[in-house]
Amino acid sequence: MQAFYADHFVLPLPSGHRFPMQKYAMLRERLMAQMPTIEMHEALPISTSELSLVHTTGYIEAVFDGSLNPSQQREIGFPWSPGMLERACRSVGGTVLAARAAIKGGWIAANLAGGTHHSHADRGSGFCVFNDVAVAARQMQREHAHHSQHTLQVAVIDLDVHQGDGTACIFAGDASVFTLSLHGAKNFPARKQTSDCDIELPDGCQDVAYLEALEQGLDQLARRFCPDLIFYLAGADPHEGDRLGRLAVSDDGMQARDRRVFDWAFQHRVPLVMTMAGGYGHDIESTLRVQLNTYRIALQYWQRLRS
Ligand SMILES: [Zn+2]
Repeated sequence: MQAFYADHFVLPLPSGHRFPMQKYAMLRERLMAQMPTIEMHEALPISTSELSLVHTTGYIEAVFDGSLNPSQQREIGFPWSPGMLERACRSVGGTVLAARAAIKGGWIAANLAGGTHHSHADRGSGFCVFNDVAVAARQMQREHAHHSQHTLQVAVIDLDVHQGDGTACIFAGDASVFTLSLHGAKNFPARKQTSDCDIELPDGCQDVAYLEALEQGLDQLARRFCPDLIFYLAGADPHEGDRLGRLAVSDDGMQARDRRVFDWAFQHRVPLVMTMAGGYGHDIESTLRVQLNTYRIALQYWQRLRS
């Protein structure tokens, strides 16, 4: 199974900033130690022409030349720096490379970062500069169109605890991309957008209710759409140990969630690209544990798919 990383491109953050930048390098180190069958590759930066499949020229230029105004930077939550640009471009690049690997016979591939779903066409938001999944979906559709009349049908299964508002807006009215978002009703963003299927969860939601909601979402997806490719945003932030999530899904519940998504992809024989999205544990170890479990499950399915 191939996985892409860019954790050695770290952007400078003021001390006390709540974004857990160190999590990415820790995840890679543990994966390399515990799951050596995962092939690790450095993510390459995305080009402006690929970004322009989703983002407006004005926004791309402002990020590239560092002319984002203070309110745009505040909305993103990171101060602009060359490191911020580099990391943002490699984060998208990793998802594009993972998508290509999944489609070209890999079945399952991953970006150790990515899942920047709050980014809209013309603005960033909530620690998201560019929308990696949206860019990768459009780029895969473009590549597929070179050898097929059929438009590649893409499903986004967004299980980060925050709504995938940017992704929902970008693909509103686009019948070739189905957006499913399972998220906390009271969580960020305050103003929700309309995905193809939105399922809202109450604060404190536990395993049984969470897994029932997931089942409803996957049922709708199966009834309304037939994907050729799945992007799975495997956010660790619905976990009970998360300080931003407001839900209470246990370790077992998180693993049951991951298994259900991989099962669904396996049953339908659809390649799946996994991105890590959010995870802000009170204890960083709880976030890492959830994410490592996700990789362990992904590897099991990857091995089954290849046998
Ligand atoms: Zn999140």
